[in-house]
Amino acid sequence: MPLLTELKTCFGKFALSVVEWIVAFKRSTERLLPGTWRIKPEGNIALERLIGRFPRYLAAPQGGVVCGEGWYPVVWDLCTAIEALEHLGMPRVAGVHAEERLGGLFLRAASSSFIVTELTREAELKAAATCETCGKPGSLKVGHGFAKTLCSEHGSARQRPRQRRSSSTGLNATPKLIFLDTEFTDLDYPQLISIGLVSDTGERFYAELSNGWSREGCSAFVREHILPQLTAGEFLQERYFAGCRLADWIVEFGGPVRVVTDAPGYDWVLMLDLLEGNLPDNLCPEALAFYCESFPALVPLLQEARQKAFASAPAHHALNDAEALREAWEVMTVNLHPAILDQYLRM
Ligand SMILES: [Zn+2]
Repeated sequence: MPLLTELKTCFGKFALSVVEWIVAFKRSTERLLPGTWRIKPEGNIALERLIGRFPRYLAAPQGGVVCGEGWYPVVWDLCTAIEALEHLGMPRVAGVHAEERLGGLFLRAASSSFIVTELTREAELKAAATCETCGKPGSLKVGHGFAKTLCSEHGSARQRPRQRRSSSTGLNATPKLIFLDTEFTDLDYPQLISIGLVSDTGERFYAELSNGWSREGCSAFVREHILPQLTAGEFLQERYFAGCRLADWIVEFGGPVRVVTDAPGYDWVLMLDLLEGNLPDNLCPEALAFYCESFPALVPLLQEARQKAFASAPAHHALNDAEALREAWEVMTVNLHPAILDQYLRM
């Protein structure tokens, strides 16, 4: 880390601990003042109460609160800290916006102060570990159509049960991501036709199978859109040989490798089937599900990324689809809050 960044981080930490101390002091003096409206309530806080306590920051149009009530205490604490700093002579903050976006709490304070930026960042990290619904400890939960920071109780209502992660194969290190797509005969009785994988650094694997499926078993859609796109040539391989080649390709990465897919029920299952008896030790036992619809606010951006990818390489070809998935993933990662992305990768 360059010296200047390090100094800034050190100073930021020091400043935050001073602010914490000031807020604690302010809290204790609030209790001595007449009226209880200043004091932070225990447990649930009503939105009117929160905005009523800090109208200059949070009331529209200069500010706003659009998030679940589990995060109101985080917003309350942030405003208390900003208020305390103003009392010490910091220029007034014109407004504070608190908004749930992409599973995380986004906080924007109208201030150019370095310490306010640090405070909002700190509060965002705190929210990333707090259930947006009830305020208990929480973490990111992702599924079709939603991505929310929730506690286990509120998350279990929306999420499928989580499998256990193996720790015996050194898979706890940050794995390399490989993006997977397959083409197969039919949704009801899927048999693998082709498989494409692209790593996060651009390495590619592609194979078309010469056996294990038949044209007669293909749905009308597959016959019309998938089969004409098969390239054959050097990619056309006997199924068992293709499985061995894929296993070798994965092993070559050395460290742990994790598959990202938008159709775990098909792509991932068909890939494991292809690898049967040849499963590489460095392959994480669970695929990472990536649904564009998990982050509704990002859907247009992610669709645009995919479309762009398909402009040069048509869809319904396993390798092109895997490449498009990777492009969409990259767009998502630059838009997510780092704390939310970090949790996503640990799912
Ligand atoms: Zn909860």
